[in-house]
Amino acid sequence: MTNIIFFGPPGAGKGTQAKIISEYLNISHLSTGDILRKKLLENDNLAIELKKIMAAGNLVSDDILNSIVSSRLTKETSKGFILDGYPRTLHQSEFLNNFLSETSGLINFIFDIQINFETLKNRILKRSSEESREDDNIDVIETRYNEYLNSTQNVSNFYKDKYNTKFYEIDGSLEIEEITQNIKQILKKS
Ligand code: AMP
Repeated sequence: MTNIIFFGPPGAGKGTQAKIISEYLNISHLSTGDILRKKLLENDNLAIELKKIMAAGNLVSDDILNSIVSSRLTKETSKGFILDGYPRTLHQSEFLNNFLSETSGLINFIFDIQINFETLKNRILKRSSEESREDDNIDVIETRYNEYLNSTQNVSNFYKDKYNTKFYEIDGSLEIEEITQNIKQILKKS
């Protein structure tokens, strides 16, 4: 069983890599952004609330995320999983740690995909025209990037300190295939 967390600012390619690696290892890919985007289609009161938050590039509440992730992980315990987009706050990482220790789960690899702001701005704008995501416009990119710097970077630093031997920094400016190869090499030699 292999359990993996992907970190990286929006547009770093963590969703793309998480999908490729989940197919390669035949484990579940749990993208909290994708789960939330599906939820938006339900058009109920929660969906309307979520839509406002996500379209502005802000983070959805920890309670909602923790409950989504714990209910999904409960079903995934035997196969292994990739977390893509979670944890994004220190409170979420505490919740995850507690959840894993209660279920005797372990994180085996943490990949932190790194990329500079200019490169990711161009990537996100390209993706917005291909996928028509409302949160991929120029005004929102900055909010999402700042959200990452202010909140999620503390979380990846926490893992870097605590899980030093499982934490790998990945150059996100390379081509998709090169990034995949780098990740696969780390998976193979460990
Ligand atoms: P993503 O596809 O991972 O970039 O997520 C898209 C949006 O979903 C984010 O900008 C947040 O509004 C929301 N979201 C996804 N994951 C989380 C999380 N772990 N905590 C809070 N909000 C999240």
